[in-house]
Amino acid sequence: MEKKLETMRHSMAHIMAAAVARLYGDVKFGVGPAVDDGFYYDIDFGAQTISDTDLPKIEKEMRKIIGQKLEFERSEMPIDEAIDWAKKSGQVYKQELLEDLGTKGTTSVKEEDLGDSVSEVTFYTVGDFTDLCRGPHLANTGEAGVFKLTRVSGAYWRGDEKRPQMQRIYGVAFEADEQLQDYLTQQEEAKKRDHRKLGKELELFMFHETAPGMPYWLPNGVIVYNELVNFWREEHQKRGYQEIVSPILNKQELYQTSGHFDHYWDDMFATEKNEDGEVYGIKAMNCPNAMVVFGSKPRSYRDLPLRLSDTDTLHRNELSGTLNGLLRVREFRQDDAHIYVTEKQIKEEIERIFGIVERFYSIFDMSYSFRLGTRPEKFMGEAKLWDKAEASLKEILEGSNREYFIEDGDGAFYGPKIDILMKDVLGREWQMGTIQLDFQQPLRFKLKYIDKDGSEKTPICIHRVIYGSMERFIGILIEHCAGKFPVWLSPEQLRVIKVKDDPKVDELCAKIMDLAQEYGVRATLDDSSNSVGKKIRSAETWKVPYSVVVGDKESESGKLPLRIRGDLGADEAVEHVYAPEQLMESIANEAKERVSRSSL
Ligand SMILES: [Zn+2]
Ligand SMILES: [Zn+2]
Repeated sequence: MEKKLETMRHSMAHIMAAAVARLYGDVKFGVGPAVDDGFYYDIDFGAQTISDTDLPKIEKEMRKIIGQKLEFERSEMPIDEAIDWAKKSGQVYKQELLEDLGTKGTTSVKEEDLGDSVSEVTFYTVGDFTDLCRGPHLANTGEAGVFKLTRVSGAYWRGDEKRPQMQRIYGVAFEADEQLQDYLTQQEEAKKRDHRKLGKELELFMFHETAPGMPYWLPNGVIVYNELVNFWREEHQKRGYQEIVSPILNKQELYQTSGHFDHYWDDMFATEKNEDGEVYGIKAMNCPNAMVVFGSKPRSYRDLPLRLSDTDTLHRNELSGTLNGLLRVREFRQDDAHIYVTEKQIKEEIERIFGIVERFYSIFDMSYSFRLGTRPEKFMGEAKLWDKAEASLKEILEGSNREYFIEDGDGAFYGPKIDILMKDVLGREWQMGTIQLDFQQPLRFKLKYIDKDGSEKTPICIHRVIYGSMERFIGILIEHCAGKFPVWLSPEQLRVIKVKDDPKVDELCAKIMDLAQEYGVRATLDDSSNSVGKKIRSAETWKVPYSVVVGDKESESGKLPLRIRGDLGADEAVEHVYAPEQLMESIANEAKERVSRSSL
């Protein structure tokens, strides 16, 4: 976030606190930071509770304060005096923060850094409201931008459920009204596209309390999932990838060898000791087993690049509070691959991966950019090798004709990485795939290949995912296309709407369904007793790309008028009429070619 915008948003939190103090009197304040799109403040209202219906009142008071152009007056106070002030004014949360500052010199509240000085603290006064804060703020409240209070939710003091529950008031704030309106419209649209909502309506997936964070894929969702995996498999086989499947449980020792035991074991599910005294970890990443496969036989330079791909199921013990639909789950699959290369092969191999990225993202109409993460402070391996690798990654990025930026120190401890960032139709940015160079795991697993000159060398491993996690990708894809999948991914590609019971109409419907079967088109017959209008609306609700209405006229002519889902870009002025065979062949072809627009 821009510093100026952040300062304005944070100042807005103070203005809100001042308004709340005016309106509700005796309340206790927690922390009030700026966040991505605005600000919030945690407030203990004591015996009172407020709800969303109170927000307009608070907004009105805030406008008053903004209109008064009150100065943010800065003052300093020794910490002991400040603690006295907090005690006297009953601000128990501020008191706790100050006491922590006085004794430990830090506060454990991440959101608000109270400054590095522990002997003196700063206060800001707006009108008759004084708040402990390091700043910076606007010069006066008149400089505030446009805002809207959005919601009230519960929040435990310091995020600890054993501590008092406070109320958190959220607001959004921007410099100009146009930005605020755009933001609010985008939020509305995002709500409509929420993958959890659409996942339910389109019967793609569900969750159950028996397995938190682990999706149940329903028949419609499995179709989407399998189509994506089929596409992945086809494209990778073409490019010389070899698929492997490896165990889901491995002895703890494997993770000790890979280094994940030290860094990751707490986030993994593990078994109890079995009768042989062994503890097994449930696979959370594919790398260790890929290393085992590489090391399972002697390798020569002629075998490299060796591209081992897999989509095995992974589990990670994500905190229950962080689970979020398909976007953060405990069980998922990655479109993973581990590519073993020599140092000289890095550049060409990454260029090949970029080719795959282009193929994948263009097929979903996604625009993307790259982020290069370079050597972090704590790194393993030789700095020289890092420098070389980073230089060649930069060179590849320069030549990619794609936007990219460098995030210094953001590489993994075992090697630099390139993340793929995708921008969806609402302009939201998502981190999807990642390409990571790894100089370390091959060493830890003592992997070797015999080079041309007969010497033993250690390969470098490239870890890469393009979709990222399949689950997360599908979640984002649902929101990106608002549940209107392209034909090849649509669980139902054709809806046959029967107008009435009649032997000839029945016969044509049966013929269409037989042909669909023959051509591999996923079709459903609606022969319910509902009205035609209702049946058409049902096809629209289910977001079926194509539908045909079959009545007398059609059974006599044997020609089918085609209805095409609006987003597929078909020309409405043209009358789309097809013989059944011709229609099936066309739909089957579109699915096979994986086109994103209708050619019918
Ligand atoms: Zn402040
Ligand atoms: Zn890996």
